[in-house]
Amino acid sequence: MKIVVLDGYCENPGDLSWEGLEKFGALTVYDRTPFEQEEIIRRISDADAVITNKTPISAHTLFSCPNVKYIGMLSTGFNVVDVSAARERGIPVSNVPSYGTDVVAQFAIALLLEICHHIGHHSDAVAEGRWENNPDYCFWDYLLIELAGKTMGIIGFGRIGQAVGKIAAAMGMKIIAYDKQINDAGNAIARYVTMDELLSQSDVISLHCPLLPSTQGIINKDTIGRMKNGVIIINNSRGQLIVEQDLAEALNSNKVYAAGVDVVSAEPIKKGNPLLGAKNCFITPHISWAAKESRSRLMNIAVDNLRAFINGEPVNVVD
Ligand code: NAD
Repeated sequence: MKIVVLDGYCENPGDLSWEGLEKFGALTVYDRTPFEQEEIIRRISDADAVITNKTPISAHTLFSCPNVKYIGMLSTGFNVVDVSAARERGIPVSNVPSYGTDVVAQFAIALLLEICHHIGHHSDAVAEGRWENNPDYCFWDYLLIELAGKTMGIIGFGRIGQAVGKIAAAMGMKIIAYDKQINDAGNAIARYVTMDELLSQSDVISLHCPLLPSTQGIINKDTIGRMKNGVIIINNSRGQLIVEQDLAEALNSNKVYAAGVDVVSAEPIKKGNPLLGAKNCFITPHISWAAKESRSRLMNIAVDNLRAFINGEPVNVVD
């Protein structure tokens, strides 16, 4: 069996092993593949199994590569694959669900704690000698914020949202949540509220819903206008949940005190993105998922997915 990984670098920049996939046949791993159909076709035309993270697999690509029998994702999301075209050709597409719930939740809290304490900034200031030369025994450059007693509103209270809620509750925050679906596990952590109540009551709003037509641009001029003055917004879900121009204006006018985002509307971020340079906006390069532990888990599930396909019983098949 010929197996091609189209874009393996982010999953395994060298600290993990591909040997799990190698066991199943002749493996070719490309760090990256240009998003040009002809090049993608050239690389997978004789492959039996294709593994991709962000490289698109279109209907035309599948038509041009009749040997392909299996597509494995190196991610939870699978929107880069034309799944209906794959289904028509009898090709299962397997994704990797929930390999990183805890670490993505941890990262949302890390963004929030950075906004509350600016540890990186203060550590740099000490390294630069500012403490040695300080007239007092301490100094700080930003407002420092205590979270206990404040209200966190979580939009999208699924696996990651609930994990964030548990950590925030442990820090003494009151948790309210808005979700289309209410469940018992969520009820044990938070009080479910309407979107209106969440917007008007929250000191911190954290986004954990998927990108859907109903959630695209959910944070915009109108919803920001209904938030408390000085609210903090956290987003490590999907960039397009936020109308970035509206958030940038709200940050610059102090309506929103600060934002921590690990995702933006177009990635990698483009020069000219309004959040670049917006006041108190902390941006990280889509790394919430990328702890070695979660990448390792992702690799193991991708290997299990291919094994299940080879054994004739594909698992984690999306549609
Ligand atoms: P999940 O499916 O367990 O939870 C999503 C929740 O959102 C569900 O409870 C669902 O009912 C709710 N929802 C759907 N539509 C909604 C709407 N219109 N309004 C309010 N809630 C709505 O998913 P999860 O595992 O918790 O992941 C959440 C998101 O996190 C993913 O969709 C993905 O975008 C993002 N994510 C980001 C990273 C990263 O590295 N930055 C990594 C993994 C996941």
